Amino acid sequence: MTIAIPQDVLDDVVATRRDLHAHPELAFEETRTAAIVEARLRALGYDVRTGIAKTGVLGILRSGKPGRTVLLRADMDALPIEEQNDLPFRSTVPGKMHACGHDAHVAMLLGAARVLMERRDELAGTLVLCFQPAEEGKGGGREMVNEGVLDDPNVDAAFGLHISSNYPAGVVAWRRGPFFASSDSIEITIRGRGGHGASPHEGVDPIFTAGQFITSVQQVVSRNISPLEPGVVTIGAIHGGTTHNVIPDTVTLLGTVRAFDAEVRAAMPERIERVLAAACASTGATYDYTYVWRYPITVNDGEQTGLVDELARGLFGVERSVEGERTMGAEDFSFFLERVPGSYFLIGAAGGPETSKPHHNAAFTIDERALETGVQMLVALGLEAPRRGR
Ligand SMILES: [Zn+2]
Ligand SMILES: [Zn+2]
Repeated sequence: MTIAIPQDVLDDVVATRRDLHAHPELAFEETRTAAIVEARLRALGYDVRTGIAKTGVLGILRSGKPGRTVLLRADMDALPIEEQNDLPFRSTVPGKMHACGHDAHVAMLLGAARVLMERRDELAGTLVLCFQPAEEGKGGGREMVNEGVLDDPNVDAAFGLHISSNYPAGVVAWRRGPFFASSDSIEITIRGRGGHGASPHEGVDPIFTAGQFITSVQQVVSRNISPLEPGVVTIGAIHGGTTHNVIPDTVTLLGTVRAFDAEVRAAMPERIERVLAAACASTGATYDYTYVWRYPITVNDGEQTGLVDELARGLFGVERSVEGERTMGAEDFSFFLERVPGSYFLIGAAGGPETSKPHHNAAFTIDERALETGVQMLVALGLEAPRRGR
């Protein structure tokens, strides 16, 4: 298969990406972005639905021929970061920036929408182009799924992609099975009894108790879960006390918990609480403990991922279709993949030191050559995925 993207479409994708980059919007506030998506899809002739999970937009294209219903997803939100790049299209909004590449995702899916409509005679089944809000920590993917984007029409397979500064521009990185970790949160308050710092024996010291817990909780990863399974418990925030000679009443802790295996993830809440309870029992403190289930493990279907590999190899050659490394990052496309088979893959966007900075860095930017690769993959999936595996 060859997928030639016309130059005017590519120019439009670059211009759209730059326009979105200059006008970033945070989670569930993507109204300008959604209005652009809606207008473009309507002009192309898609059946458009708006206002899903607040700002989400769907563009549906029924070929009238038999085949699967395939969903292609782009996330739309930016981050609360002050951009440090000196680009002509740098963010015009103070404190907000497309530092993850979601501007590119929207632009690429709109470019693919245009090519797929131009080639609609070649289509089978039904396409659902899904523009999702709030990937960054707010679970827009879960809201979209809860509001029925997989149910009407009934989606058979779902695909999503992410630009990645970890791979050279133009490389497609896929992985069968778990690709991204689960991401959950813990919120803890340790309650002691405050008093004079000179008389610790008269109080119950929540700071000392928190210290015991923070040290001991690493045993969950090192002693409780298999050494062959990855896991992370990170305490990212600790607050307690006011001055040097007062034992406070309480300490609060916030943390993130990551896993790559559903059983490991399921065991985490109790394992962590056991350590917390022991630390508190040893000093006489009490605690409040909340385990917040956030993003599931992103698990790719073997067959659908095989299709991603096959298309990438066919379009770009074996050297540009690679097995990706697992990452402890998380992705809310996992909510789609919990419900339907599909695959989430990466498009390399690093073209040198400037475009190799980490995602969420204030100087993050992409090699725009990656945009063509992404559009080609989305078009290839749009044409081919509905014909497969029914
Ligand atoms: Zn991100
Ligand atoms: Zn992202």
